[in-house]
Amino acid sequence: MLDTLIVGAGISGLSTAYRLHQGQRQILVAEQRDRVGGNIATEHQGEFLWEEGPNSFSPTPELLKLAVDAGLKNDFVFADRNLPRYVYWQGKLRPVPMSPPAAVKSQLLSPWGKLRALAGALGFVSPNVEGKEETVADFFTRHLGEEVAQRLVAPFVSGVYAGDVHRLSAQAAFGRVTQLADVGGGLVAGAVLSRGKRKQSSSTVTENADIPKTKSGELGSFREGLQMLPRAIASKLGESVKLNWQLNNISPHPEQGYIAAFSTPEGEQSVEAKSIVLTTPAHVTAPIIQTLSPLTSTALQDISYPPVACVILAYPDEALRFSLKGFGNLVPRNQGLRTLGTIWASTLFPGRAPQGWHILTNFIGGATDPEIAQLSEEQIIDQVHQDLQKVLLKSDTNPKPLAVHLWSKAIPQYTLGHLDRLETIRNSLKSCPGLFLCSNYLDGVSLGDCVRRGEETAQAVLDYLG
Ligand SMILES: Cc1cc2nc3c(=O)[nH]c(=O)nc-3n(C[C@H](O)[C@H](O)[C@H](O)COP(=O)(O)OP(=O)(O)OC[C@H]3O[C@@H](n4cnc5c(N)ncnc54)[C@H](O)[C@@H]3O)c2cc1C
Repeated sequence: MLDTLIVGAGISGLSTAYRLHQGQRQILVAEQRDRVGGNIATEHQGEFLWEEGPNSFSPTPELLKLAVDAGLKNDFVFADRNLPRYVYWQGKLRPVPMSPPAAVKSQLLSPWGKLRALAGALGFVSPNVEGKEETVADFFTRHLGEEVAQRLVAPFVSGVYAGDVHRLSAQAAFGRVTQLADVGGGLVAGAVLSRGKRKQSSSTVTENADIPKTKSGELGSFREGLQMLPRAIASKLGESVKLNWQLNNISPHPEQGYIAAFSTPEGEQSVEAKSIVLTTPAHVTAPIIQTLSPLTSTALQDISYPPVACVILAYPDEALRFSLKGFGNLVPRNQGLRTLGTIWASTLFPGRAPQGWHILTNFIGGATDPEIAQLSEEQIIDQVHQDLQKVLLKSDTNPKPLAVHLWSKAIPQYTLGHLDRLETIRNSLKSCPGLFLCSNYLDGVSLGDCVRRGEETAQAVLDYLG
């Protein structure tokens, strides 16, 4: 009998497994695909190297440490944190203000919009009288005004969640920001008061000299793309990782733990384990645990994952209207473009495109445009190219399409009621000792969140195993 079976070899499963492996536990990681990494999908063709899932990570202490432990200390690449981010507004790219003086000069907000945002940030905010859970749109409109909510927050939400500000829960999707507001005195006072606490908590992990020192706002990847991380962890785990193993069912073991049934290249296999960590998406997990924990299963069924297409197009220098220097651009929904945003991928990290070429990584679809899944690849490329012509390109250009990856269920949406769903899951799982859920539908979708949660789950498993 195994100590722990981990299902799914995305970053959540691998980070959980790695810490349990370090704790000398007998583990098995079972992955249904023929590769590790889950959403992390780096591809290459000739001198082009691109990402079809996540493009970069925010360098959290836990993620940096995991990468160093996995042997990647010389493989980090970091984008210049001063590269501007843009929002396409009224036919032009406008830099996102990253400092108070830049906000004063910004053309993205009207003078009234700036005053409204300043007053709100300083605490002149109407109270949330009934104390109800608010949508992201309602929370930010109340605190910073309609212009900030529409022109900055909504495109940012498209960039992170491919989500809809009118359906996402502010408390679930922006917990850290809503907590600042809870401190009282506005978001600025909350940020100042919480700063000291944050510094204290991160300092212990970053004491390791091998861990690169990074600054806030910096974004990271690896020399040969994000896929280096799951591959490096999997190679440390060796024979414990099984590919092409699909979990079909879990039942309680008559004595202790669980029996998990898999379809594998060698036929049906069953595995006995004292504990199981499920890192599979909510829509996969829900039917598997239906009989073990019906309430958890129902809560998981309510978590939606809209489709998103990631469209990678390359263009030569001469196709661009100006020289690209920036992180990329986001597009608010009412600006007449269907593309949600574009990462100027080859300006971020070195070695992504041959001399004289650029890779543009575009996202289209999401919660406000699920119809994207009905289009053919050619139609999606055409749409993105037309949008890019309005934003970045000269009119008489053609793309070199590198890939269209349609994620039919891309990113979990933390819609209104999400925190209640998590509470239901926590309570109902108490009747399934040794069964743990660890996935991006819980409390944070970023890679850093997944690694942090993986480590917390590994600790909970170790405590359970005693
Ligand atoms: C298009 C896109 C862009 C993103 N961009 C960023 C970004 O730039 N930065 C960032 O920080 N985050 C980004 N994210 C979010 C981040 O990539 C994900 O939240 C994270 O990778 C999720 O990891 P995970 O391990 O929880 O899930 P997954 O990566 O989904 O892993 C789950 C694994 O379980 C496996 N599995 C499923 N069913 C079974 C079964 N029955 N049996 C066995 N195995 C099974 C799957 O094959 C998969 O490998 C992006 C996500 C997407 C989709």
